[in-house]
Amino acid sequence: MTALPIKLKSEAPVAPALDRFKRPLRELRLSVIDRCNFRCTYCMPADSLQGRGVFLPLVKLLTDHEIERLLNAFVQLGVEKVRITGGEPLVRPGIPGLVKTIASVPGIRDIAMTTNGVLLPRLAEDLAEAGLKRITVSLDTLDEQVLHTMSGGKAVLEEVLAGIAAAEAAGFERMKINTVVQKGVNDHTILDLLDHFRGSGHVVRLIEFMDVGNSNHWRRDEVVPSAEWVERINQRWPLQALEPKRASETARRYAYADGQGEVGFISSITEPFCGGCSRARITADGILYTCLFANKGTHLVPLLRQHDDDDALLERIRQVWLDREDRYSELRGPGANPADAGDHANDPKVEMYRMGG
Ligand code: SAM
Ligand code: SF4
Ligand code: SF4
Repeated sequence: MTALPIKLKSEAPVAPALDRFKRPLRELRLSVIDRCNFRCTYCMPADSLQGRGVFLPLVKLLTDHEIERLLNAFVQLGVEKVRITGGEPLVRPGIPGLVKTIASVPGIRDIAMTTNGVLLPRLAEDLAEAGLKRITVSLDTLDEQVLHTMSGGKAVLEEVLAGIAAAEAAGFERMKINTVVQKGVNDHTILDLLDHFRGSGHVVRLIEFMDVGNSNHWRRDEVVPSAEWVERINQRWPLQALEPKRASETARRYAYADGQGEVGFISSITEPFCGGCSRARITADGILYTCLFANKGTHLVPLLRQHDDDDALLERIRQVWLDREDRYSELRGPGANPADAGDHANDPKVEMYRMGG
């Protein structure tokens, strides 16, 4: 089927949209499906999925063509980078075709994907051919029993490692490995995981357990502050701090002094990075959010389906970004104004597998 033409009257790129804190819109996290073949306890615990209608019916997902139209509008507002996520993006039917569509949008310079990796042996080559540039694989531990527990009984270590190997064989180099750390759950296995990937060219990023959504039973005392890890790792393998490449970088990076690569830390709880946050998020059914912890979004589907051209869509997205004043992590983080601070873990929030991690 030939794609319908994109109907944007104004095609010249405009200056990047700046929000109320002068943060530009640069990156889009695109959730392409909310379903997943894992049930990670910190994200989609099985006990939160009881009852029908938890996941979007497939007919509610944005089509590839609607995503293409959205991206054309986002590019006009400054977006250059798209990270495809979910849920598990590789369970969306026809994902290589969608990657190809995204790669064809003029102005998109970088397409990355975050995945749990188990379907990569089947899909890595097609994804590379379609134009995917970078892959992040999530892997929390090399301990099979701990992995089994953290993935809700779904992950098999050998399969995730086979996914990483398949991505390497398809030409993906310097992958990122995302590791959520939970005190008393997998923290005793972290040094082994780092050891495994030292010298591989891939970069492990230790992520503080976050209070995303309302169903992951988050507790502050299960967060291991990144500063503690820097100290512990430094004792085993001396580290050297690296300068951030961009203001919007989410991870603080360190090099192993012995030349065996890098390790990163994503410290949303103890060292918030809202000041450089240039990311918008779109759910698989077309709701725009401007913060991972937001509870109000903007439905874009009516604008996609009711107008002859996409100028109204562009204007709506621009206005949402201009009005943006999100800084959730700073407000609940250390050093926040005491009037704003407090424990927001129970505020109503959108689940991460809906919002797109
Ligand atoms: N299914 C894919 C995966 O796991 O890579 C993509 C979606 S997942 C929501 C995106 C990232 O969010 C993963 O790296 C996952 O580990 C991370 N994540 C999920 N829940 C989290 C939490 N409560 N705290 C910190 N990171 C979390
Ligand atoms: Fe699925 Fe990723 Fe959430 Fe785990 S973290 S349940 S793999 S969406
Ligand atoms: Fe961005 Fe919201 Fe995270 Fe702050 S809390 S870095 S604004 S997504």
